Amino acid sequence: MEQVSSAYIKRSSEPFDAIVVGSGITGGWAAKELCERGLRTLMVERGRPVEHRTDYVTEGVDAWNMPNRGRMDAKVVEEQFHVQSKCYAFSDYTKQFFNNDRDMPYSTPENRPFNWIRGNQVGGKSLTWARQSHRWGPLDFESNAKDGHGVDWPIRYDDLAPWYSHVERHAGISGSRENMDILPDSKFLEAFEFNNVEKAFKKKFDPAFAPARMIMGRCAHLSKPTDAHLAQGRLPCQARNACERGCSFGAYFSTQSSTLPAALKTGRLRIATNAIVHSAIYDPKTNRATGVRVIDNETMETR
Ligand SMILES: Cc1cc2nc3c(=O)[nH]c(=O)nc-3n(C[C@H](O)[C@H](O)[C@H](O)COP(=O)(O)OP(=O)(O)OC[C@H]3O[C@@H](n4cnc5c(N)ncnc54)[C@H](O)[C@@H]3O)c2cc1C
Ligand code: SF4
Repeated sequence: MEQVSSAYIKRSSEPFDAIVVGSGITGGWAAKELCERGLRTLMVERGRPVEHRTDYVTEGVDAWNMPNRGRMDAKVVEEQFHVQSKCYAFSDYTKQFFNNDRDMPYSTPENRPFNWIRGNQVGGKSLTWARQSHRWGPLDFESNAKDGHGVDWPIRYDDLAPWYSHVERHAGISGSRENMDILPDSKFLEAFEFNNVEKAFKKKFDPAFAPARMIMGRCAHLSKPTDAHLAQGRLPCQARNACERGCSFGAYFSTQSSTLPAALKTGRLRIATNAIVHSAIYDPKTNRATGVRVIDNETMETR
């Protein structure tokens, strides 16, 4: 936590080698990789800071200690969360990780309906995602070339496979080895055990639908953390199913639990929050982006 607060900056003349816009799953990974390769990195996030553990304000709160037992006032939903409430993970427990649709409205061309689920804060949607983590298989990269639709992928599964492994080892993906062509195995932690109902279902399902078979979902939860995960401050999952409120065990992969601590450990990361990137500053002489223009979310000041 110490490290996080000292990484926050508001105004600085420090030069950076790299600027990462956003702090969701993508931004967190970019910051970690850049910092670990020796680049002084600035992460610019339009939303508020969310501290691991302390800002998971509804974690462990029982329904009887929530107004309306965790259900939200229908009027508030209609006025402020008419889009975000369409997401199954949205509730009174998690509303702090979803945008307020009244304060941050958006429109689409010709006002076509589009449910844009957004979480503008440090961690982005890494706090609320469902953590299912499956590799694409070789066929996924080849099918459009084979059937002639769309644009062929410029890479194939084998190009990406080492990067899947790189990410999986750090994030921690639990699952079972199945040797299936269409769903390649990841670098797995132990799979979660089926419960009794699932075991009974599988017993009937597998023979009835062979060669299809029922397998455990592959998810970014630490069933059995490695030493590297423990060193990140992460602990085994308690399988208590309240993840989108935030997890103090750091048992599921999020920016807060995983990539941010790794980036901070290098001492090369700075984080500017409440800072909306307006545009990139482009230098035509060098053909490079040299910085970003930012609008302060709280003061509307430009810097
Ligand atoms: C409920 C739910 C369940 C999901 N389940 C799964 C799943 O099981 N498996 C799976 O693979 N995927 C899942 N997804 C999808 C997955 O969560 C997203 O694809 C992923 O989190 C996107 O990460 P991101 O970093 O690209 O974007 P985000 O997490 O949206 O992060 C973007 C960040 O950038 C910031 N930002 C945006 N614009 C600016 C700007 N101009 N200046 C500064 N900052 C800016 C935002 O505030 C935000 O913090 C799920 C999504 C949801 C909502
Ligand atoms: S311990 Fe496991 S089930 Fe519980 S909130 Fe954390 S990740 Fe989710």
